Amino acid sequence: MTIRAAVMTAPGKELQVWDLPDPALEPGSVLLETVASEVCGTDVHLYHGRLAGVPYPIVPGHVSVGRVLEARGVDRDVLGEALRPGDVVTFYDVHEVCNACWHCLVARQPNRCPNRKVYGITYSAHDGPLGGWAERIFLKPGVRIFKLPDPLTADDVIGGGCGLFTGYAAVERSTLAMGDTVLVQGAGPVGLGATAFAALRGAGQVIVIGAPAPRLELAKALGADVTLSVTDLSSKEREVRIRELTGGRGVDVAIEATGNPAAIGEALGLLRDGGTYVIAGHYTDTGSITLNPHIDINRKHADIRGQWGTDFHHVYRALRMLAKHHARLPLARIVGARYGIGDANRALADVEALRVTKAVIVP
Ligand SMILES: [Zn+2]
Ligand SMILES: [Zn+2]
Repeated sequence: MTIRAAVMTAPGKELQVWDLPDPALEPGSVLLETVASEVCGTDVHLYHGRLAGVPYPIVPGHVSVGRVLEARGVDRDVLGEALRPGDVVTFYDVHEVCNACWHCLVARQPNRCPNRKVYGITYSAHDGPLGGWAERIFLKPGVRIFKLPDPLTADDVIGGGCGLFTGYAAVERSTLAMGDTVLVQGAGPVGLGATAFAALRGAGQVIVIGAPAPRLELAKALGADVTLSVTDLSSKEREVRIRELTGGRGVDVAIEATGNPAAIGEALGLLRDGGTYVIAGHYTDTGSITLNPHIDINRKHADIRGQWGTDFHHVYRALRMLAKHHARLPLARIVGARYGIGDANRALADVEALRVTKAVIVP
């Protein structure tokens, strides 16, 4: 038996369909039949070669949902729930964090662990189906597997996807207190996730700047009180509107989810004195900007924080919240289109051109 997989052989090269050999299931490993796998903005970055240390060829797809086909000596998920063939699960894409290095033990920043690997990003296709754009996914021993909490479906999880987890992490990293006014910059998957969790955490007012219009409608559905178009309004017009909404003071918390360096200056201008700004959308290097240290940071008493990647607890808590608030968080609606393994090139192109907010690979 072989496993069909979409393989990114090198940056800028069309993806190919490969037949990978069935992996040998070592003790502690699990084989999933893929139900759905996300096409994330990071996959577009991978296609353009913007991430360092990627061992092309790779099977992309870091957030996926699968059905357990075979589990070699694994009968519980990470939360201790019984795990059986046929169960629908997702898994934490980060693996092999060592819990033995300085970053893990002293700084407690496992996302900086040099041993860290990520499914769909830093495993070679030569090592097996270690990404979700494949008929089956091989979960190595120790991968954190969990069954989807009721009533979540694969579309809920993939519709949220890693943007949901990053959005959760960005909100958690902020100082958002109940009643605060929050500005979310960007209405892609990360911005939509941040919008949902800012509202759930008790924001008094959530303002989203983004485009295009369908994304701003999704932002409204997920908890935005006010949306402002980044294309139809000038930055001056956006500022006037946000001053009106905040008694002239500016926002208490801003969350960046654009990947556009120009967004940084705009948010610091709109942040109230003593406010917090979390930058979560610059996963890759998109260039530099000029700031005025006196006006933008020091005199403003600004608290500027970065959020790079997610930990297991972000994924766990985000999915728990999604399960509890399922009725008011229509994340499955974010899924815009489905593509087979042979259509991965089209899926990437559609995501890059913003034709769909979330594309999904369904083998
Ligand atoms: Zn992602
Ligand atoms: Zn480590």
